[in-house]
Amino acid sequence: MPQILATTDADFETRFADLLSMKREDSPDVDAAVAQIIADVRERGDAAVIDLTAKFDKLDLAPERLAFSASEIDALCALVTAEERAALDLAAERIRAYHVRQMPQDAKWTDPEGATLGWRWTPVSAAGLYVPGGLASYPSSVLMNAIPAKVAGVPRLAICVPTPNGQANPLVLMAARIAGVDEVYRIGGAQAIAALAYGTQTIAPVDKITGPGNAFVAAAKRRVFGKVGIDMIAGPSEILVIADADNDPDWIALDLLSQAEHDESAQSILITTDAAFGTAVQEAINKRLQTLDRREIAGKSWQVNGAIITTRDLTEAAALSNRIAPEHLELCVADPEALAKDCIHAGAIFLGQWTPEAIGDYVGGPNHVLPTARSARFSSGLSVMDFLKRTTMARMTPAALAAIGPAAEALASAESLEAHGLSVSARLQRLNDSPKKT
Ligand code: NAD
Repeated sequence: MPQILATTDADFETRFADLLSMKREDSPDVDAAVAQIIADVRERGDAAVIDLTAKFDKLDLAPERLAFSASEIDALCALVTAEERAALDLAAERIRAYHVRQMPQDAKWTDPEGATLGWRWTPVSAAGLYVPGGLASYPSSVLMNAIPAKVAGVPRLAICVPTPNGQANPLVLMAARIAGVDEVYRIGGAQAIAALAYGTQTIAPVDKITGPGNAFVAAAKRRVFGKVGIDMIAGPSEILVIADADNDPDWIALDLLSQAEHDESAQSILITTDAAFGTAVQEAINKRLQTLDRREIAGKSWQVNGAIITTRDLTEAAALSNRIAPEHLELCVADPEALAKDCIHAGAIFLGQWTPEAIGDYVGGPNHVLPTARSARFSSGLSVMDFLKRTTMARMTPAALAAIGPAAEALASAESLEAHGLSVSARLQRLNDSPKKT
C-alpha cells in the first residue's frame, strides 16, 4: 500500500516529514570503482575505454570502432519506421521552437560617467551528451539534450551511448541525426564520462557534459565537474498530481503510473481535496497494475514510495507541493493558472486535466531533463543556458577612469593590493600630466 495521509491527522507532520526525507536512490558504493575507472582512462585513453567496454558491455571494440561510422548510422536509421520518424521530427521541431525562445540577449550601454558596459553570451565549444543505454534507450533524451545545445550554437556535439552486446537502438541514432549531432560513440558508464572530460587518442575532450545515467554515470559526473561543466545529477523520477474530485480517477492513476514505471525508486504522489476521490484513484491504480507491461517496476515504486494526501483545500495543497518541490507537477483543478501562482518550487508544471505529464516527456516543447530530489527549490531544468557562458564587458574612457578610478585606488589600498592601485593611478597620473588628452 502507498502511504495514505490527511492533513487533519494528528501525526501528519511527522509522517509528511518522513515522506520528504525518504532516501530513494540506490547508493551502492560506486565512487571508489568510478575513481579507478577515471584514472585508468586518463592514463591509458582508448585502451582503457576498450577494455572497460568489453568488461561491462560485452562488446569488443578497436579505436576506429569507438564511433559509429556514417554508413552504420545510415543502416540503423533505415530501420526506423515512417511513423517513428514523423514522431521524432514533430518532437524535434517543437523542442527547437520552444528552446529558441530561451536564447538570452547580449546587453551594452554607456553609463553617465562614460563607461561602456555590458555582457555577451557565447556557446561552449564542445558538448558531450550521455544517453543511457544499459537497461533501456531513450531517443527522447537525445532530442532534449542535443537540441538546446544546437540552439545555443555549440559547434561540436558528441554523444556517448552504451550498446550492450553491440545492440544499438536505431531511434537513438535517428534522433542524433535529426538533432545534428556530430559524433556518436558506442561507450557508456564512467569510462564514457572520463573520455568526454579528459579526451583519449580518438575522442577529443568536451567542455560540458549533460544527460542522465545510472549511479556510475552520476558518480563520474560529480568527479569530473570542474574539469568540465555538468548539467545536474539527475535522481529517480517524481510526479506530484494535485487533483480535485472533478477528474477521471483512471486518468490520474495513469499519470501517477507513468512516472512509477520508470524505476522502482521513482515517486508518485497524489494530493487531493477529496478523500473519496483519492480512494477511487487507488482502486484505478490497482486495476491498471494488473495489466501494465511494467507492472513489476511500477507496482513496487507505487507501493514503496507512493502516497495519497488529502488536504482541507487547495491552499494547503500548494503549501505541501512547495515543500516537496517536485520534478513534475500536474495541476488537475478547475483553475490551474491560479493554483500555479502559489506553486513556486517545481521543475515543470502541467496545467489542467488535458495535459498529461507524458506530453512533456516527448512533444510538449519544454525540456524533460529536470531537477529531482527537491532540488527544484534552487535549480531549473536543462535549457539553452546550460550550453552558454556570459562574458562581462567593460570599456573606460579617460574621463570615465578619472571619475571612478580614485574609488578603485582607495579600495585597492584598503585591501593592500599595491599593483591594483598603481595600475589605476599610473593612468590617472598620465591624465594629470597631459590634461588635453582627456
Ligand atoms: P547507463 O547507460 O546509465 O549505464 C550503463 C553503464 O553502466 C554500462 O555501460 C557500464 O559501463 C556501467 N556499469 C554497469 N555496471 C557497472 C559496474 N558494476 N561497474 C562499473 N560500471 C558499470 O544505463 P542504465 O544502467 O540503464 O541506467 C539508466 C539510468 O538513467 C536509470 O537509472 C534511469 O532511471 C535513468 N534515466 C533518467 C532520466 C532522467 O531524465 N532523469 C532519463 C532516462 C534515464
